[in-house]
This record gives sequence, structure tokens and C-alpha cells, in this order.
Amino acid sequence: MSAIQSTKSSRCSSVYGPVKSWRFGNSLGIDPIGDVCTCSFNCVYCQLGQIQAHTTQRQIFVPTTQFFEDLQGFAPYDQVDVVTLSGSGEPTLALNLEEILAIAKQITQRPTVVLTNSTSLRDTTVRHALKSADTVAVKLDAISSNQLQRINQPVATISLPHILAGIEQFRGEYPGNLAIQTMVLSPWTTEMVELYIQHIQRLHPDEIQLNVPTRSRVLVRQLDARGNNPIESVPHAMRQLKRISVDILKALADTIHYATKIPVRCAPIN
Ligand code: SF4
Repeated sequence: MSAIQSTKSSRCSSVYGPVKSWRFGNSLGIDPIGDVCTCSFNCVYCQLGQIQAHTTQRQIFVPTTQFFEDLQGFAPYDQVDVVTLSGSGEPTLALNLEEILAIAKQITQRPTVVLTNSTSLRDTTVRHALKSADTVAVKLDAISSNQLQRINQPVATISLPHILAGIEQFRGEYPGNLAIQTMVLSPWTTEMVELYIQHIQRLHPDEIQLNVPTRSRVLVRQLDARGNNPIESVPHAMRQLKRISVDILKALADTIHYATKIPVRCAPIN
């Protein structure tokens, strides 16, 4: 059955930006989740603030017809390098993911990118939908179950073996550009680095993206946090996140690259 449904009014547009991304250039943002931030994780660094709907339940959040109208409002697309699905939570929870990707590609004629937290990759339908994206960046922040609980705070049914198995299965089927995105919150021990390298060698990504928190975390959901607007300038409640130094991040990147021969890109640290 088609996931296209009749248009319902929504408070916010499902398209925003373009925003400047250190990884992808000028990125037109697609938000298939919408008003209530919804995710199977509740990461301690999440720029959306506290996740409002903590779930693995897939549904249609933004009707495809509404997305179609929102996207046309952003034409022409000359200033856009890529179209990126992320927005207000985990994009693979959107049941109309495949339709949204197809429309985004057809209308903008730009490469499509999906940023996912990797928790839905055991689902055949999700893997099938993601195959039409040019780049899929899968999150792997944790290398131990303890770290997963501390950093990502997943829904109770999600475990690290579940996430790793999903990424491995997706890698086996996906012909596009697969990036592993990892948030580095503090310096890693030698054991952590070795374990991470072992995971990478099994998962075979095309590239690794090492992230750091780029700004303070809002404590309560703010719609403008889905792009990279200067929300520090408005009086939202914030929590300052510590950052590791450029030298430590660079040394980590060099070690991973040396061991795996896979390109490693680091987020700029100001
Ligand atoms: S996976 Fe992304 S959207 Fe979900 S809580 Fe983590 S940072 Fe936020």
C-alpha cells in the first residue's frame, strides 16, 4: 500500500536550511519526523534536547504529500550540495522513508544523505528504503554496552550486538557510500581504540566521521535546533558539553586510519 496520505496541516515545515555541514557542504535538511522529537536513543549530547517520544515504533509522521509541497517551496536548488534526512529524531522511524527519498532525489536532482542511529537496520524494510540513498551515515558511538547506556540511552530492547549486527547486515547489502559517524566525548583508552578498530574492520565502512559536540545542548526541545542556526543567541536553557582537544581527536583519527586504511574525517574544533 502506498504510504502517500492526504495532507494534514503541520506546525513546522518538513524542509529547512540549507545549513552548512562540515561533512556534506550546503545541505538542505529534510525532517520526516516533525513536531514531536522522536527517537530510539536519547543521546546525552543530542542537539534537540530531551527526546519527547522514546520509541522504536515506526509510523508516518509527515504525510508524503505535505513533504512534497514543503520541498517545492525551496526551489530552485542551485545553492544545495546534498539533501540530508535527519531533523527531529531518527529518520528511519518514518514509514514513508523510501517515498521521501525518491521525491527528494527526483525534485532536487541532488545526492541524498541519511543520518541514522543504526537501531532500525535489522528491519528489512528499512534497509531496502535506505538503499536508494547515495550516502548513509550510521551512528556508532559506543563500543561497550555500558557506554551505549551512558551515551545513547536507548530504548530497553536495543543492545550493542543488535546495533552491530544491523550495520553489518546493511553493509553486506548496500552498494552506496557508507559512513560510520562516531561522537567522541572524552579521550579513549588503548583498549577502547583497539575494540573500535576491530568493529570497523568487520563493518567495512567507506569512511569514518569523528564528531565532537559543536555547541551547548538545549535542555528542552527547540525546533531551530534541527539545523545549525545560532540558537546560542536566544535564551534557551543550555548545558555546556566538554570537548576533547584537536590534538587528541587527530591522534585518534590517525591511529584508526593507520590500522584500517579507511579515510577518517574529523569535525572542526573551534
Ligand atoms: S540519535 Fe540523533 S536524534 Fe536521536 S537522540 Fe541521538 S542525537 Fe538525538
